Amino acid sequence: MRVKTIIVDYMMRNLEISYEHYEDTGNMNVVDQVLISEAQAATEKANAPYSNFRVGAAVRLRSGRTFHAANFESEVFPAGLCAERSLLFFIESNYADDPIESLAIASVPSERECYPCGQCRQVIVDVERRQKSPIRVIMSGAGSATVVDSAEKLLPFTFKL
Ligand SMILES: [Zn+2]
Repeated sequence: MRVKTIIVDYMMRNLEISYEHYEDTGNMNVVDQVLISEAQAATEKANAPYSNFRVGAAVRLRSGRTFHAANFESEVFPAGLCAERSLLFFIESNYADDPIESLAIASVPSERECYPCGQCRQVIVDVERRQKSPIRVIMSGAGSATVVDSAEKLLPFTFKL
């Protein structure tokens, strides 16, 4: 594992983001590997006839329970939903008292790591704020993974009411 840091200069200020990068997910801890496997398996359940881009997401809750979901595309195009938000909304509706510790994301095809879209990043941050604890986000693909210890690192200058 290598810890990397991105520093973005903007108007002479620095924005620093640290994350873990694993060239080979086989070098990750077993708990993370199992969650990535669950996300990969969830891609089989995707309904993606239009994009043919199947995404799977899996969460591990503080209790140790895991759940997964996949993306679902609708004939009424904007009505579909990403795997991550499908899963988070389900968890928030059914297990809100059991905080999410980790969220793994995988895709098919998997030529590169799969990163959450902007709307999903916002919702992951929303869940972190509600549960008052960070979510480890594991973005996997092509045998590698990038990990941040909080979704806030994926969404600097986050919107807040
Ligand atoms: Zn999304």
